Amino acid sequence: MERYDLVVIGAGISGLSLAYCAARKGMSTLVLEKNGAVGGAFHSHRIPDDGGDFWLELGAHTCYNSYRNLIALIEGCGMTGRLTRREKVPFRVLRNATVQSIPSQLNYLELLVSVPKIFVTKKAGLSVSDYYKRIVGKQNFERVFAHAFNSVLSQNTTDFPADMLFKKRQRRKDILKSFTLEGGLQSICATVAGMPGLQTVTGVAIEQVQASGNDFQIVTEDGNAYAARAAALATPAPVAADLLKGLLPDVAARLSGIELRAVESIGVVVEKEKPSLDPLAGLIATDEAFFSVVSRDTVPHPRYRGFTFHFQPGRLDREAKLARIAGVLGVTHGEIAQVAEKENAIPALRVGHEETVRAVDSMIAGKGLLLTGNYFAGVAIEDCVSRSFAEFQRLEAQH
Ligand SMILES: Cc1cc2nc3c(=O)[nH]c(=O)nc-3n(C[C@H](O)[C@H](O)[C@H](O)COP(=O)(O)OP(=O)(O)OC[C@H]3O[C@@H](n4cnc5c(N)ncnc54)[C@H](O)[C@@H]3O)c2cc1C
Repeated sequence: MERYDLVVIGAGISGLSLAYCAARKGMSTLVLEKNGAVGGAFHSHRIPDDGGDFWLELGAHTCYNSYRNLIALIEGCGMTGRLTRREKVPFRVLRNATVQSIPSQLNYLELLVSVPKIFVTKKAGLSVSDYYKRIVGKQNFERVFAHAFNSVLSQNTTDFPADMLFKKRQRRKDILKSFTLEGGLQSICATVAGMPGLQTVTGVAIEQVQASGNDFQIVTEDGNAYAARAAALATPAPVAADLLKGLLPDVAARLSGIELRAVESIGVVVEKEKPSLDPLAGLIATDEAFFSVVSRDTVPHPRYRGFTFHFQPGRLDREAKLARIAGVLGVTHGEIAQVAEKENAIPALRVGHEETVRAVDSMIAGKGLLLTGNYFAGVAIEDCVSRSFAEFQRLEAQH
């Protein structure tokens, strides 16, 4: 059986940023990924074109200069030259099948009365709904902000912890404020997966993690096994719970309480002159079967425009989705040049989640088992990378 210093399960940004740390320190590192490609929620659909490859993000799309750990990883991989500015185009609201500006939807009197409460209201312990109703007013929250937050997390965010939605982080002023990468964000994952010292195998689903003497044994669905001195789980929480139920039932029980929300994402590519919409960053849906539309207008392309619709699960079948997409864009079905689809999932965290994290962390303390993912510090890319860097430091401290 092959034996590694570290085996990482899951090749999203959480797993790969952890593997990156290990490979840089000279540890023999193996990453095992269930899907046919690395990236997880980083999925950049590409079309070769003479005017420069066109890519469309079906998952994560935006990074900020406050993502310091992610930027360190990008720098470490020699990818800084590929940072690409996102143009300033507005987000708009879609209500009653009409595109409207965000300011036109707000009640300014209510906003004026409520906003000062921001100085005396703490986010900790409050849900998104409890916190933001106080600081923007109930009417503004229900009419605009709730939909905006739902569109950020592709789920109903009413009960999500307010302090895990947006975080204040220190910015890197030498880096573009809001950026993507040439070729799309998935290129970060592909670059890490190919770095020296790191082996990545895709198309392998892991079924179980068990102990074997001082080692971990990672068992695949088709019965293969890998031995590792340390193992890292970087899958969604319910998957991690399932993988650990034999080895660490207490951890598994805690993780199984973290729910996931599915998102049915569909990206469409159209010739630039076809859609009737003015350039925009995206649409916040208020009364549709989708939460949001994310546009590629932030990185204009000479020939194409692209739009990803993040649908609520189980609401519409594929044909109905494409019909609605054509309606929103003002194009015919035949004018859609390409369609790409992706099943995404985001954890539905709840107030008090930090207690689960504390409990899980104390249960794995001192063990060679690392846990990372977007259900620890928060769902933003930087939260994932920060957790992975911290987990690697914990491993190093043990040796
Ligand atoms: C639609 C969408 C848009 C987003 N936009 C942004 C954004 O613009 N900016 C931002 O900061 N954040 C954004 N996020 C959040 C952020 O992208 C995610 O939280 C983050 O990418 C999750 O990374 P991860 O590695 O933890 O999980 P994932 O990306 O889900 O990776 C987990 C990996 O584990 C693999 N896996 C699962 N089970 C197994 C198994 N049994 N064996 C082997 N492998 C397995 C999966 O196939 C997957 O590749 C967005 C998320 C979504 C879904």
